[in-house]
Amino acid sequence: MTPDTRRGRAHLIIRADRCKGCDWCVTYCPEGNLRIGGETNPQGYHPVELVDPERCTGCGQCALVCPDICIEVYRAERPTKDES
Ligand code: SF4
Ligand code: SF4
Repeated sequence: MTPDTRRGRAHLIIRADRCKGCDWCVTYCPEGNLRIGGETNPQGYHPVELVDPERCTGCGQCALVCPDICIEVYRAERPTKDES
């Protein structure tokens, strides 16, 4: 599962196959924007999922605290003066 967050300020890649549902990223997301989902991955865990792509600020806290490096955060580029 790789949710498309490109509508928000960041693009998140969540490696659901590696997630062990430990809840750390859920606890540390300042926006309360992650939750343990209802799916079961091949390891038998319920992987985390994004609640609302629009609310992701790209702060990177979730990626920092994940002990299994399951989350990558790519911040959206700000438009240049000519593009805005
Ligand atoms: S990048 Fe920040 S706001 Fe976005 S899901 Fe991760 S912790 Fe939450
Ligand atoms: S911190 Fe990592 S392993 Fe734990 S629930 Fe979040 S993505 Fe999954």
